[in-house]
Amino acid sequence: MSSVALKESKRVMELCNACRYCEGFCAVFPAMELRRTFSDGDLKYLANLCHNCRDCYYACQYAPPHQFNINVPKTLAELRLETYEEAAWPAIFKKMFKHNGLMVALIHIVSILFVLFVTLLFQNSNVILGTHVGPNSFYQVISYAMMVLPISVLALLLLAGMLMSFKNFWHLTGGRLSELKNIKAHMQAISDACQLKYLAGGGHGCNYPDDRFSMIRRKFHHATFYGFMLCFASTNVAAFYHHVLDIPSPYPFFSLPVLLGTIGGIALLIGTSGLLYLKLRMDPMPASKKNFGMDVSFIVSLFLTSLTGLLLLIFRSTPLMGSLLIIHIGVVVGLFITMPYGKFVHGIYRYAVLVRNAIEQSHEKT
Ligand code: SF4
Ligand code: SF4
Repeated sequence: MSSVALKESKRVMELCNACRYCEGFCAVFPAMELRRTFSDGDLKYLANLCHNCRDCYYACQYAPPHQFNINVPKTLAELRLETYEEAAWPAIFKKMFKHNGLMVALIHIVSILFVLFVTLLFQNSNVILGTHVGPNSFYQVISYAMMVLPISVLALLLLAGMLMSFKNFWHLTGGRLSELKNIKAHMQAISDACQLKYLAGGGHGCNYPDDRFSMIRRKFHHATFYGFMLCFASTNVAAFYHHVLDIPSPYPFFSLPVLLGTIGGIALLIGTSGLLYLKLRMDPMPASKKNFGMDVSFIVSLFLTSLTGLLLLIFRSTPLMGSLLIIHIGVVVGLFITMPYGKFVHGIYRYAVLVRNAIEQSHEKT
């Protein structure tokens, strides 16, 4: 049975398909124009192709208070949230998308308390509050096995959750797995994603946070995306240093893992602060209230990950190191647990629809 969000998306897309005024704003309208009718899968695909720039809301002559009540960004945002729930793997965790903001906050608090509890089981408070310097100093507070094994298991579960959710999502939006062999489509999608091409709108940016065109959201999104990727690279380089080169942490400031982590962490702080500021200032009319908690909690979670990581770097030779290490590991554990069941999934689903869009557009040209 169709949900309210599906029915409303169908109504809105049918009207837009007759109007077509907004076809130059983003990828949604050209994709919509390839269809005369809309299956549930088509609508879920279009909902995830929308990146909530709001250009079509402010341009629309049928937007509220018009009786047609056309509100494309809000309608597609509500359907997007439903696809996140539907595609979640394992299915039992789809409930985490309900009251997601509260759920993510609680999981982070419990994770920090859990790491503190486990550390106190093996260490006395003098060690946690002491000063430790030199090779392996972090592991004097939390042993290497206690730090790396649970996080590695969580990372594997996270990867499995992401892959299975991606597969579910691909089916939900009407895709066949064989289509994923299209290398050209992947190259196009990677290029679009790395440039955040569609956040440039028709060339003037988004109508975000209000009805004026601006590139600011794209800039903050870029800082967040590349900051996250640099932090990810830093973790992997550090693992290479430890396991392959046999150089134990902590690493000097001018070493590759620390430089990558510092630049990435600062970019992440700037990007997430900016996105949070814009979100709190945005015009609420084109927004879905149901998505607000999920969006904010993910931004705050990334902000805390970078903030605690940078504080750990600054204070690693002081008695604050032990407490900061416990908080940072707790935040990272919370982030890993919630990633497949929160706003992070928009990254992988957006990639999926960009691949599908590239396939469709190449068929259109031939
Ligand atoms: S959002 Fe409004 S103006 Fe734009 S295509 Fe749809 S109906 Fe037309
Ligand atoms: S909000 Fe932006 S991305 Fe979404 S359909 Fe409208 S113009 Fe396209």
